[in-house]
Amino acid sequence: MSVQCVYRKNGKSCQAYPVLDSKYCFAHDPANAKKRAEARKKGGLHRRVIKRTKHVYHHIKSVKDVNMILESAINEARSLESSQSNLRTLAYLCNIALKGQELGSLEERVGAIEKATNEKKELR
Ligand SMILES: [Zn+2]
Repeated sequence: MSVQCVYRKNGKSCQAYPVLDSKYCFAHDPANAKKRAEARKKGGLHRRVIKRTKHVYHHIKSVKDVNMILESAINEARSLESSQSNLRTLAYLCNIALKGQELGSLEERVGAIEKATNEKKELR
């Protein structure tokens, strides 16, 4: 058995390695014609066409800004077809969003405490 695929076209040989127990590579093995057709069909069915929503530029200056970006990312992830990968991404983003809401709440509470403290100082 040769080291390379024995397929030749216009005097040039194929440079690919043959599949197990064959003289041809996967692309040229006549025995794999049906498999190749199925793979092409499968590839066509799984074509990804992602329609993106209009990009909005966000300035990140607070937890609230990050939460807005997370919110739009989650909504975009939800608009995609449900695949294992997309659902994993959605779960990951939701997990970060929960953390973001917690931080946002803390930021608001600390801000309120600072404001109240400053008002007390001004009264003295
Ligand atoms: Zn070949």
